[in-house]
Amino acid sequence: MTRVCVASHHTSFAALLADEEFTRIASDARCLIELRVDRYNDPREELLQQALQRFGPERCVVTCRHSAEGGGGSVSDTERASLWECAARAGAAFIDVELRTLRAEKTLAARLKAHGSKLIVSYHDFVHTPPTGQMTDACCDAAALGADVVKLAVFAKRVADTAKVLDVLCDASLPVPTMVIAMGEHGQWTRLVAPRWNNPAPFGFARAASAEGTAPGQPVWEELLKRYRYAEQTPQWPVFGVIGSPIAHSRSPALHNAALVRGAQPGVYVPFLVDDVSVFMEHVAPRLGVKGLSVTLPHKESVVPLCAHLTPLAQSIGAVNTVVRTDDAWVGDNTDAAGAADALQEMLGDLTGRRVVVLGAGGAAKAVAHAVVARGGEVLVCNRNNTRALELARGVGGRVVQREALPGLQDIAALVQATPVGMHPRVYESPLTAAELPSGALIFDTVYNPPVTKLMALAREAGHATLAGSAMFVRQAAAQFTQFTGTSLPLDVWQRLDGEV
Ligand code: NAP
Repeated sequence: MTRVCVASHHTSFAALLADEEFTRIASDARCLIELRVDRYNDPREELLQQALQRFGPERCVVTCRHSAEGGGGSVSDTERASLWECAARAGAAFIDVELRTLRAEKTLAARLKAHGSKLIVSYHDFVHTPPTGQMTDACCDAAALGADVVKLAVFAKRVADTAKVLDVLCDASLPVPTMVIAMGEHGQWTRLVAPRWNNPAPFGFARAASAEGTAPGQPVWEELLKRYRYAEQTPQWPVFGVIGSPIAHSRSPALHNAALVRGAQPGVYVPFLVDDVSVFMEHVAPRLGVKGLSVTLPHKESVVPLCAHLTPLAQSIGAVNTVVRTDDAWVGDNTDAAGAADALQEMLGDLTGRRVVVLGAGGAAKAVAHAVVARGGEVLVCNRNNTRALELARGVGGRVVQREALPGLQDIAALVQATPVGMHPRVYESPLTAAELPSGALIFDTVYNPPVTKLMALAREAGHATLAGSAMFVRQAAAQFTQFTGTSLPLDVWQRLDGEV
């Protein structure tokens, strides 16, 4: 079992000892507690002993970080050494010492390990991801200086940085259990799937719900245990995920992970912030053991050339929202199309001969337009960029409609909003005013976060029936899940999970 080490964010031992969340953390056998002594304004040995007794020394990681590596700077080097030795005598499970400190103080490791504590040797770079060779050298140096666990925490500014981190994690010659954390959102996966490495550290770091975290991108401990099943993960588990930019708003990780749990499937589903889709698909995902991906804004079209095969549907739409790793290659499909058409059909019945306005001409709009036409409907495309509107309209045998003409349209069954306007966090925006809506049309907003968009609220006020993006979201997710796992869950289960997560 890989445990979760929850970092104390407090400014004093007193605050830590009074924090009820940490009492709860201490009662969970899957957790450890990191005492960040350098951040406390009362870094005294008797209080350290008291905290170790309170939580159990065998459950504690004691850190007294050097100010050059993110430490609080409240203790001198001599005091740090005394505090570590106090922790060792009291039986702390792990003591974290920086590589730079051990290089300067060669006998420290042996002194701290003499009482049975294990030594974490850490290295931090809060600005860059150093070259792979430099990180590997740091791991080897740390091992040579007595590390039981090596911890590298570097900052990843882009996907290419996380590829360097992966080089280190995939190095089979690492001498001791190692964690390499890529701080920042691009590297968040390094915190979520760490148990899958061949020689993983016995724990990963998380923050308390009430804390901001001691490093950027740190997940909340309960989320790591419940959503990502951190303590259950094995190297054999497949990795799934969603690629996009932005990605923090995506509800796919919550929904898919809940479905994996509900379906008793091994696997973990991770949000990937991706700036460069080809670096990710070619140099990160395969080595990370990714077996399937949801693809969201803005990558639905840029991922197409990276697929060795496309399903006929994805081919004709020209946009992919699902990729599956088969025979060492990516196969692209589109589950948005059926998801949207099924949701529309549930509201409107048979789509044959029905006229649908599609707002937007990107990946989602293309999927909706193709699906409506495939089911016998007629499509009118309205988009900010008229050239793209024309291309889409031609592709589906429909026509373009200008924004000014929308209110005058007659006999429109539905208007499908397929632009990101109104999506979290810009929830106060609407792509259209109420006066611009075609009369009598069902207003279907594909944006699912927030659940009721500004456009939907305006439409309801004006007497239109509305359909929320979640109706499409759960359907496209259910179809992806089947492709990822080879199993399926009934739609009502997906709807229930969507309401719960
Ligand atoms: P995309 O490929 O980047 O296309 C975005 C489209 O929106 C483009 O046509 C773009 O117009 C238009 N657009 C962007 N900003 C605009 C603005 N400020 N004003 C007017 N038009 C604007 O994105 P996508 O993948 O199609 O996704 C679009 C939306 O669909 C997202 O918000 C996503 O949440 C939603 N979606 C929902 C589901 C679901 O399951 N519910 C599934 C897929 C997508 P130009 O051509 O003029 O640039």
